[in-house]
Amino acid sequence: MAIRNIRELGDDILRKNCREVREMTPRLRELIGDMYDTMYEAQGVGLAAPQVGILKRIVVIDVDGTPYTMINPRILESRDTQTGSEGCLSVPGKAGIVTRPAYVKAEAWNEDMERYEVEAEGLLARAICHELDHLDGVMYVDLVEGDIYDVEAAEEDEE
Ligand code: ZN
Repeated sequence: MAIRNIRELGDDILRKNCREVREMTPRLRELIGDMYDTMYEAQGVGLAAPQVGILKRIVVIDVDGTPYTMINPRILESRDTQTGSEGCLSVPGKAGIVTRPAYVKAEAWNEDMERYEVEAEGLLARAICHELDHLDGVMYVDLVEGDIYDVEAAEEDEE
């Protein structure tokens, strides 16, 4: 496993549509492992394959110690809204206010290509929406309310 280079806002690959995964392969398993390594190294809570330059519909999320590998994910239901600050590993040191659903139910396939569903609220719901957007070339900066601001000082305070 390895840390991969995270593409940053301005890189065209972040704006492309990702392709569905048809079957699991050793190469994709390695990619998924690398995505977790890269996400944890960067202290993120989610990472989408295009952020490491791969146009496949794969995201990894871990907001509270429970990792979710989501292959070909799709939101089945959403309701209510939450408004809060959001950042992205492809926009380092920045954050902005984004409104997302307060609840989502999503389907996805795991590393063994077994279908599962996840119901999420709060940060997990936000992370699922944010990461799934990446698969369609959408970045949170497109949805932000007001200005994007610098969070590096705040992050240091939290540590
Ligand atoms: Zn992101």
